[in-house]
Amino acid sequence: MNSRTPTFGKLSKLAAVLSSALLLSVVTLATAHEAHVHGVGKLDVALDGKTLSLHLDSPLVNLIGFEHAAKSAKDKQAAQDMAKTLRNAATVFVTTPSAECKLSGVQLVSAAIEPALLGEAAAKKPAGHEDHDGHADMDADFSFQCAYPERLQRIDVKLFDAFKGFNSIDVQLVTPKRQGAAKLTPTAASITIQ
Ligand SMILES: [Zn+2]
Repeated sequence: MNSRTPTFGKLSKLAAVLSSALLLSVVTLATAHEAHVHGVGKLDVALDGKTLSLHLDSPLVNLIGFEHAAKSAKDKQAAQDMAKTLRNAATVFVTTPSAECKLSGVQLVSAAIEPALLGEAAAKKPAGHEDHDGHADMDADFSFQCAYPERLQRIDVKLFDAFKGFNSIDVQLVTPKRQGAAKLTPTAASITIQ
């Protein structure tokens, strides 16, 4: 028998795995670029040990009513009000009380708004979100530490109440027990965790 055949088999298998991984990353990139739809937000939720992480990716207009740079006093005030609401994240993402989740970090990044207006100490260059065609996004990260993560049943998402611009929010959820997707609307704004 030809001893090279198994090696070739392994190589072609590896090539197949690599090309499907490449395809996956291309698809992921394409999805990221299609994310900017006014009224629609994207929320990634992950529970890992005691850490609950949420990442909100939203057109800025949903949160603040505009997407240009905040230059006027009125626009700057609006940006600061938005940041204040988001930084008060425990009232935006209401977790099951018995899980005792405490907010441990918030990071707000937008290409259109100066970091200082968002309450960020150091200037962070927004990753991959260039302000093009007059559109801009908000990338917001929230972390909570939950004393009893196994008791976390749901998260009530108050973004629809806090901001006027959301019609729907696409949720991707990953926990040790399950992963899935959900679409939140103003009348169905809870995420079931377990
Ligand atoms: Zn836009």
